[in-house]
Amino acid sequence: MKVYHLNCLHIASAFGSAIGHCLLLEGNNGLTLIDSGIGLAETREPEKRLGKELIETVGFKLTEENTAIYQIQKLGYHPKEVKNIICSHFDPDHIGGLADFPEAIVHTSKEEYDSFNSGNERYLPQQLSHSPEVRVYERNDSECFGLPARKLDMDFDVYLIPLFGHTPGHCGVAFENEGKWTFYVGDAYYLRAELTNKDHPVDQLATIRAVDNALRIKSLDSVRKVVENYGDTVAYFGYHDPDEFTESYNEQ
Ligand SMILES: [Zn+2]
Repeated sequence: MKVYHLNCLHIASAFGSAIGHCLLLEGNNGLTLIDSGIGLAETREPEKRLGKELIETVGFKLTEENTAIYQIQKLGYHPKEVKNIICSHFDPDHIGGLADFPEAIVHTSKEEYDSFNSGNERYLPQQLSHSPEVRVYERNDSECFGLPARKLDMDFDVYLIPLFGHTPGHCGVAFENEGKWTFYVGDAYYLRAELTNKDHPVDQLATIRAVDNALRIKSLDSVRKVVENYGDTVAYFGYHDPDEFTESYNEQ
């Protein structure tokens, strides 16, 4: 399976700059995207799609070049080849790209989909107004890196790992490729430095953004444990840390 790393977001705020580290997997039966960054419509009609207040509060810098669809086409694929999109959670900076692949099946935890549909104002309902097919997962039927996991209904081994707290159903994603495991932690941390520095300044932002901060800290501790026990053999990274992302990823 060919794995591409795409940066599908640019945020510049008082807390520094952030990216949107998405993955594109080329399997036997089409492409799978893990998280989706900002969407094309959001770069063209930002105030209508995201709203002025959100753009300014978050510090979105919106360019077409950042969208997954732009980068996927640049790699020589057709957008229709994206058959599945796995979402760590449904915050606006993670699911804007869904609308660019309207036929793709969206995979997420049941807790997160329910939370999105509950009317919680951290989410933007219009990001799902294209009514994609959504497949939800609720049962921990597996185990990855010693953590409870949910096997996804797809043609390769890929799992959601509940890392709740940032949002009610936030999950990491784990998959194996050619004998090597990847653990994508989504927003379980914003910056890798949080793993070793419990008083990192970005912890303030993470605390404000968490629906359940005690649970978020517990999830972050779970990530710490995985890194401690499996960090030498498992590739791990989150969504927002610019230091984790290098262009050399795609040269492998
Ligand atoms: Zn995020």
